[in-house]
Amino acid sequence: MVDATTRAYAEKQDADDPLAGLRERFVTTDPDLIYLDGNSLGRLPRATVDRLDGVLREEWGGELIGGWGHWMDLPTSVGDLIGMHLLGAASGQTVVADSTSVNLYRLAGAAVRARPGRSVIVTDDDNFPTDRYVLAGLAEDRGLQLRVVHTDPDEGVDTNTIADAVDEGTALVSLSHVAYRSGGLADMAAINRATHRSGALVLWDLCHSVGSVPVELDGTGSDLAVGCTYKYLLGGPGAPAFLYVRAGLHTELRNPVQGWFGQRDQFAMGPEYDPLPGVERFRTGTPPVLPLVAVEEGVRLLAEAGIDALRAKATALTEQFIALADARLAGHGFRLASPRDPDRRGSHVTLHHPRAEELTGALIEQANVVPDYRTPERIRFGLAAPTTSHVEVWDAVDRLVHLLEQDSGSYL
Ligand SMILES: *Cc1c(COP(=O)(O)O)cnc(C)c1O
Repeated sequence: MVDATTRAYAEKQDADDPLAGLRERFVTTDPDLIYLDGNSLGRLPRATVDRLDGVLREEWGGELIGGWGHWMDLPTSVGDLIGMHLLGAASGQTVVADSTSVNLYRLAGAAVRARPGRSVIVTDDDNFPTDRYVLAGLAEDRGLQLRVVHTDPDEGVDTNTIADAVDEGTALVSLSHVAYRSGGLADMAAINRATHRSGALVLWDLCHSVGSVPVELDGTGSDLAVGCTYKYLLGGPGAPAFLYVRAGLHTELRNPVQGWFGQRDQFAMGPEYDPLPGVERFRTGTPPVLPLVAVEEGVRLLAEAGIDALRAKATALTEQFIALADARLAGHGFRLASPRDPDRRGSHVTLHHPRAEELTGALIEQANVVPDYRTPERIRFGLAAPTTSHVEVWDAVDRLVHLLEQDSGSYL
């Protein structure tokens, strides 16, 4: 049996890694930094720097207003690129616009309106905060009930719990595909089936899964989805999010923030709102061209690597990390707070420790390792496949062990 806890193993894995060459295609200013937060803000691809420079100088600088001739279609062309390579979505169902929070509001609002007579939205208590806040506000506005089921924060969403909470009164089920805290991966196909049996719609938040785990929105019969582009999709801070609406729902759903970019004949400037027939009706206002172009570059890089290869590498990284945590960190008071089964988790691994917050600070300040702290008492390690090596995983754990030993036991 191979011992996955040695540095020699890590070196061998890197030497055999078909994606190892990707690392050089990112900007790095500190070669000693071990960045394990690509699931919060992905690293900057070099290609993005050049592309943005060109767009600034030649397109904005040179073409001026004429640029809209081709900028106009970026939300749908970049949406299709994400859909085709990363979402298992045929073209014409994905648009890049606004933030995940805003898109969630729009799609949830459209969904409950399309299910009149049903008064319940189902979500879970471990869902991402913005999702819970958006849904709570919407439920209050529309006089609906938000049914919040319990999810084990270390295991992720349980299919049976959701199935039990859905009934003939349910309009919408809204969940995260990969849990932001534990990395727990929900069973999209099974939850869609259980929800559809009662006639409700399902809205998935893909922020922590898109670009890290294969997603099959069309294949699993998903209705609606949203997700961000600044995490695994490498779009940069504040880059716009995407939304997906299954083709069969386009004419049935109405965008609650109806604006001129969703209008059929936009520049006729007509008196009444007459929405486009396709997913474009979920556009609202002027798209942010510069970050959209950055999203396109990030997605191209991932598409070139291929989601299956990215997933295979991420699984190898998280398996190695967990083996190291068992061997070297368990004795220092750490406990795994992510699913042990690799098929049940995404691309980040979380460890529980009573002094997690302080240790996260010490890792950043003293060890040049950047994970992030998550309540309660958890350190989250994002192992983004394009930019993380197996040696970095080994070194990060080793630096953490040194911190703990230096501190002569006070972290225990
Ligand atoms: C990061 C994240 C968000 C962020 O939403 P914004 O509107 O972009 O701030 C939403 N949902 C989940 C699950 C996330 O991980």
